[in-house]
Amino acid sequence: MKRRNLLRALSAGFVPTPVPAQKADAITGAVKGSLPLTEFEPRSMLHVHETQIDRAKYPVIDFHAHISWGDNMAGKESVSFPSPASELLAVMDRRNIRMMVDLTGGYGKGLEKSIATLQKPHPDRFIVFTEPWWSKAPEPGYPQFQADQIARAHAAGARGIKVLKTLGLYLRENVTTGQLIKIDDKRFDPMWEAAAAYKMPIAIHTSDPEAFFLPIDRFNERYEELNAHPDWSFYGKDFPTNRELQEARRRVMQRHPRTQFVCLHVADSEDLTYTSGLLDALPNMSVEIGARIGELGRQPRASRKFFDKYQDRIMFGTDAVPRGDEFPQQVFGDKLYQIYYRFLETDDEYFDYAPSRIPPQGRWRIYGLGLPDQILRKVYNDNAARLLALA
Ligand SMILES: [Zn+2]
Repeated sequence: MKRRNLLRALSAGFVPTPVPAQKADAITGAVKGSLPLTEFEPRSMLHVHETQIDRAKYPVIDFHAHISWGDNMAGKESVSFPSPASELLAVMDRRNIRMMVDLTGGYGKGLEKSIATLQKPHPDRFIVFTEPWWSKAPEPGYPQFQADQIARAHAAGARGIKVLKTLGLYLRENVTTGQLIKIDDKRFDPMWEAAAAYKMPIAIHTSDPEAFFLPIDRFNERYEELNAHPDWSFYGKDFPTNRELQEARRRVMQRHPRTQFVCLHVADSEDLTYTSGLLDALPNMSVEIGARIGELGRQPRASRKFFDKYQDRIMFGTDAVPRGDEFPQQVFGDKLYQIYYRFLETDDEYFDYAPSRIPPQGRWRIYGLGLPDQILRKVYNDNAARLLALA
């Protein structure tokens, strides 16, 4: 306040008092001024219908689970099991889950252990996939070696192959250093062909949400998620763009038309027009919805059309991981399945996509698709059963 104005204010009996910034009210906790984002937990005041679905309308095949974890790039042939099968079976029985596909079954001796632990004792409840032997990719003779490993895995009982986003984003010419190895690198061609020969579908995860390729700043819609996991960012350095990765995968699917590819996470859940284009062009492709109901559910009208059009090529999956609370949208348990069933079966509006205090992938909520019985049956069971040649 200028001196002249101050004098005028004083003569009028008015004395300005500065308001201290960010002083919380001792009783209510209310803060005037700004509030740190981490402390913001708005509760919706909408009076909307809430449907609790304890059991899926039809028996479910969860096509995307990580019941065992392999060593990925370490070359040790090891696997670990965070939860015993008995614990998983109890949830499966309560939630009407007929079968779970353990995608990260490992390779070599690790794969044999996964099969002996899950598939052998419970052949109608668990199916195990194998993984490529990434650590050997730089070695000469790898293309034939990897094709032979697929034959060995098939003989051991593996029913498909899982390709993590390792391919395209982590695997390098010296395994962890050097140039990134491209998804459509020719050295994997014998593996894709072996998969066709043994009728083993490929479950492939390529790239990640677009925000992971952008700076972690105030414009990033996944700021909190990336802030919590900065190692998930693929911004800068020598990383390809999201679209370059997707296009490399398209070339692989084009080049191997006899091989069945299940593109995990809806291939690109943020761009259903692009994904529809892929599905229209590639009859050997289908998709799975794990960890992406947050994306599908915030564009419910486009998603509903997508499910109508591609109802024979969409599979139920959750990306479930037993134990741990780092990724609330993926923690295996009763709550996770209730949310997925609510999303697919009901018309409920504006609900949480994950059992979490704060929406973990981004601050938005989702809307149910209310799918008709005929589509539900295909997505829950029939499409996966056909691809896995189950009775
Ligand atoms: Zn996964």
